[in-house]
Amino acid sequence: MENQNKECRNCHSEVTKGVGRCPYCGILNPTIELKDIFKTIFWVLFIMAIVTYLLPKS
Ligand SMILES: [Zn+2]
Repeated sequence: MENQNKECRNCHSEVTKGVGRCPYCGILNPTIELKDIFKTIFWVLFIMAIVTYLLPKS
């Protein structure tokens, strides 16, 4: 069984991948990388653009 650990983006301690909170420094989602956040923001903007496009102009 492979133990998937990742480095905390704040304190660089080894934490379990996908853990909600770093047990060492206490930040939320320590294994989420900046590119994942940008990806999420991109999708939100993309969906908002589609919704805005589809809505009838008043
Ligand atoms: Zn940490």
